[in-house]
Amino acid sequence: MAASDGAVQTDILISGGGIAGLVTAAAFGADGHRVICVDPAPPVTEEAADGSDLRTTAFLQPSIQLLERAGLWDLLAPHATPLQIMRIVDAGGAEPIARLVRDFDASDISDAPFGWNLQNWLLRREIAARLAEMPNVTFRPGTATVALTAREDEARVTLSDGTQVTARLVVGADGRNSVIREALEIGVKTTRYGQKALAFAVTHEIPHENVSTEIHRSGGPFTLVPLPDRGGKPSSAVVWMERGPEVARLMALPPEDFTAALNARSTRILGHLKPATRLTAWPIISQLADRFTGPRTALIAEAAHVVPPIGAQGLNMSLADLGLLLDLSRDDPGSRASLEAFQRRRWREARLRIAGIDLLNRASMLTPRALRDLRAAGLGAIYGIAPVRRLMMKAGLGVN
Ligand SMILES: Cc1cc2nc3c(=O)[nH]c(=O)nc-3n(C[C@H](O)[C@H](O)[C@H](O)COP(=O)(O)OP(=O)(O)OC[C@H]3O[C@@H](n4cnc5c(N)ncnc54)[C@H](O)[C@@H]3O)c2cc1C
Repeated sequence: MAASDGAVQTDILISGGGIAGLVTAAAFGADGHRVICVDPAPPVTEEAADGSDLRTTAFLQPSIQLLERAGLWDLLAPHATPLQIMRIVDAGGAEPIARLVRDFDASDISDAPFGWNLQNWLLRREIAARLAEMPNVTFRPGTATVALTAREDEARVTLSDGTQVTARLVVGADGRNSVIREALEIGVKTTRYGQKALAFAVTHEIPHENVSTEIHRSGGPFTLVPLPDRGGKPSSAVVWMERGPEVARLMALPPEDFTAALNARSTRILGHLKPATRLTAWPIISQLADRFTGPRTALIAEAAHVVPPIGAQGLNMSLADLGLLLDLSRDDPGSRASLEAFQRRRWREARLRIAGIDLLNRASMLTPRALRDLRAAGLGAIYGIAPVRRLMMKAGLGVN
């Protein structure tokens, strides 16, 4: 619909069509709102294409309810691999071998798995296809948000093609350097760890049996997350965190030397690992926006908070943001009362979760042997107390 001054009118304008923005568009669309979602970059929907996102997302139990509500889970479930056991391995001794292995089994706290793992490039393909079928949702890849004027009655956004859009609610899902956040002059607190994460897929000899394995030595965790078989072989996604110079060294190795380093770091827990895709590297930071709201505007996902990829928290926190925003937007999306409630309930929760993940990351980076021994002792002690173990598993899922 066009206003008298030629501006396009909508209920919800979403700045950013990363996975968080795409899910947000589907969810608000499924709730019956008129939605426009913009992103300067078209989604890359094939694994082998340049620029494809080779990370995977482990959607934890509460996120599945949100994906169901958005009409997405039926499309995604056939491609998802369940995560039944979270295995933590300490390999911090003199030699890179597994010296302490502890299994956290979802059946201790629930009938369902902890979560389901999906490839990010495939998520983009499936969600973009769903949006194309929704008459009340317009996805405009190739178009950026360039300016925002936010008032109590409406928000007005200027797009890179010159279009003016007025919305009852603008959702900033435009990533860690959010243009919407900057337009609202909201600051951020950022912690840099000097780490990067290598993300890629491997095939391996031993089936993963739906076990996600996190191996700690120094520099950061090394995680193997189950994927569907690839060419008849068991396959997993790897997230390998190290200090920046070590990541640069690893990426520059000839393929056979990289494979040797990969197998040493994995402690061969799944037998021989063979890289199955190119390598991608992601800088690791923690970041929290000073506020999550402005007039008629809410920040979600990495525009609001960024965490290191430990315990599959990042996008799961984002979907918790979205679930609350949807509930609060039933009557008047973007109303002052709804945004105040969003700020109150999500900002503190994000700050606490960032602090917890920051601690885990720092513990995982430890180099001195004595501290690594302490870390292993701590893991053994926590694991040994069943009620504490169950409490931690539930906290990781974000349920009570
Ligand atoms: C190695 C790794 C593994 C991870 N694994 C997990 C996991 O298992 N589980 C989990 O929950 N999380 C995980 N995460 C975190 C998760 O990947 C991120 O939280 C998520 O991808 C961020 O999504 P986003 O949509 O907020 O940001 P982005 O993916 O950065 O999307 C932002 C979008 O905004 C667009 N944009 C930028 N500027 C503009 C503009 N001016 N106008 C409009 N659009 C704009 C960009 O083009 C981009 O598409 C992982 C992260 C890493 C690094």
